Amino acid sequence: MVLFFGPPGSGKSVQGELLVKRNGWQWLSTGQLFRDSSDPAVLQRLATGELIDDDMTNKVLADALQGTDRGTRVVVDGYPRNRAQAEWLEAHLPEHGREIVAVIVFDVPKEEIIKRLAGRGRSEDTPEVIERRLQIYAENTKPIVDYYKEQGAPVIVIDGSGNVDEVHERIQQAIEACSLV
Ligand code: ADP
Repeated sequence: MVLFFGPPGSGKSVQGELLVKRNGWQWLSTGQLFRDSSDPAVLQRLATGELIDDDMTNKVLADALQGTDRGTRVVVDGYPRNRAQAEWLEAHLPEHGREIVAVIVFDVPKEEIIKRLAGRGRSEDTPEVIERRLQIYAENTKPIVDYYKEQGAPVIVIDGSGNVDEVHERIQQAIEACSLV
């Protein structure tokens, strides 16, 4: 399992999809699973930029992992997003026959993120909601990267600025350097 971390608008989803296509892996995004939900309460919460509660998120992730082929590497994009989710994941990885082989962190300047999100046009991309989601990332999600570093997991910081192909090549080279493909 490769975990993708980065603020909203850092390109995680686009890069995740490119990476799995190139390497024959599978992509799993909790954000995408929630956007595909037919539960009005979930969709309403997404629109505010707040996180979905941990129990529901852990269940969504577990069900999605269950549906993956154990022999195929998965890129998990957007999970865990806080310490409680990180601890839940750690406790439940063995039953899914998986381990975290790399943590990829997207580093993109805030100005570029705001510019990208403004052009993306998702309903939850209003300036107030963008600001709130950046705040949640800084307060709850970014600190988990340190948690993984403390545990000795391979943490790879990728410069996420520039065009899609450039960033993709940086990630591919990094995972090849770690012998993950
Ligand atoms: P982005 O990459 O732009 O942040 P995502 O697709 O990752 O967007 O997530 C969209 C929304 O889905 C989040 O703002 C949050 O409400 C919800 N979400 C996604 N993953 C999680 C998670 N692990 N825990 C709680 N909420 C989540």
